[in-house]
Amino acid sequence: MKLDAFPEDVRPHLIPEPGGRMAYRCLGCHGVFSIQTLLYTCPDCGHVLMIEDQDVDRIRKVPGALWRRIFDFRKALKLPALSGIYRYHEFIGPVLPLEAVVYLGEGHTPVIRANALLEAEVGLPFFFKNDGQNPSASFKDRGMASALSYIHYLIQKGYADQVLAVCASTGDTSASAALYAAYLRPHVRCAVILPHQKVTPQQLSQPLGNGAVVFEIPGVFDDCMKIVERLTEKYTVALLNSKNAWRILGQESYSFEIAQAFDFDMEDKVVVLPIGNAGNITAVLSGFLKFFEAGILKALPKVIGVQSEHANPVYKYYLEPDPGKRRFEPVTVRPSVAQAAMIGNPVSMPRVIRLVDRFNAAAGKQATFFVEVTEQEIMDWQLLANRNGHIACTHGGESLAGLVRALERGIVKQKEIAVLDSTAHALKFSGFQDRYFSGSLAEEFHVLTRSDLVNTPMLIRPEGIALPEEGKPLQGKALELYVERLSDTIAKALNLKGTSPR
Ligand SMILES: *Cc1c(COP(=O)(O)O)cnc(C)c1O
Ligand SMILES: [Zn+2]
Repeated sequence: MKLDAFPEDVRPHLIPEPGGRMAYRCLGCHGVFSIQTLLYTCPDCGHVLMIEDQDVDRIRKVPGALWRRIFDFRKALKLPALSGIYRYHEFIGPVLPLEAVVYLGEGHTPVIRANALLEAEVGLPFFFKNDGQNPSASFKDRGMASALSYIHYLIQKGYADQVLAVCASTGDTSASAALYAAYLRPHVRCAVILPHQKVTPQQLSQPLGNGAVVFEIPGVFDDCMKIVERLTEKYTVALLNSKNAWRILGQESYSFEIAQAFDFDMEDKVVVLPIGNAGNITAVLSGFLKFFEAGILKALPKVIGVQSEHANPVYKYYLEPDPGKRRFEPVTVRPSVAQAAMIGNPVSMPRVIRLVDRFNAAAGKQATFFVEVTEQEIMDWQLLANRNGHIACTHGGESLAGLVRALERGIVKQKEIAVLDSTAHALKFSGFQDRYFSGSLAEEFHVLTRSDLVNTPMLIRPEGIALPEEGKPLQGKALELYVERLSDTIAKALNLKGTSPR
């Protein structure tokens, strides 16, 4: 749609001008720091940071109802810079000029209703939001688009050049970082640090294909994180983990999109997501709060964080009902099919603690919940979801298993509508499906194969007739015989009835 075709009250707001006053805010000492340099922790006290806009009046001047119209009409604009997460520019990165925006097709992932069979099995209506349909096939692209747009802005302004971006990863952060960094060649180079044999072959191929320097080290993600933390302290590198608060800002788009998908009505809605390093749940809580405080939403949804019992520090923290007695203890992780969430010491824990309090206070009741699921439940629900037409990864299965647990525990009611985060594409984690089918997940994962969920290919290779060989297709009578024999064998296997002669 051309600019002059939009309604007059919306037109001045359609294409945002840079504005706002963004600053880092320390969650420990509450100090405020300029965003002119990249910070990851507070220079005074070492705590994690969030980025806040100190010019909220600018946001409040526009009534909630008008914001809703602005976002809906922005859908009809064709500007690449506003086609992804920056549809919500004023809430994600208001200081960034649109020329700085790096857009690779992230965001606005489909929200897919579960079919009647699956809903009947689960017990309430729900949708998957398929964040595996982002460019590098996980939700991490939302945060990376934000972090790299900001770095791009620093480069354009002359505040930075020849940036070496680094991250530790359980597989998806590195895939995303490598992709976005590659787009900003030659100004940005990327190095990623992965736990050896703890990312899937598909995830490993991604940063290799995008030309990042890939290091594999012994240990788990938490060890990789320690190493990049020391690298950022001792050397001039840009950290792309979610400790970088710009990542959080971009991931808030997930909440904004859910809000918009339901016409900004979050009454009786439940958002369910897996927790690893806790960056995503931080962003989801923060995003909904921003829209609520701006008057765009009249109600907040329930938010349910799910953890596997093999990596459950956040769940354990909230097991203690008395806030005064809660103590955070990192856990030693065990192998998990939700491998990208296999984290024992989540970097964003202080952010979660603070946001959970703010969220519940704003909702006027408990609106955040944490549940734990078994590895078995994660696999079974993932496979069952995909049997019903989804593309859920194991973490999507974890979300679904978490919803089932929440329903059992009475956290969720049958009249509510749930939106589940399938955080990556099923294909990235297909190795777990293979191992489930072949029964080889038993020892470390404690997952037993349910035979009704197994599916394996059938090889049909008849004896006694000519078969096609490489470069030598069959012809004439031999081809006829081959087609007849194979199709009859398949028909028999499928129990097909013959067509009646005409
Ligand atoms: C990173 C990741 C998670 C965990 O998200 P956090 O922000 O670390 O809590 C879950 N699922 C997938 C597929 C991921 O890549
Ligand atoms: Zn501080």
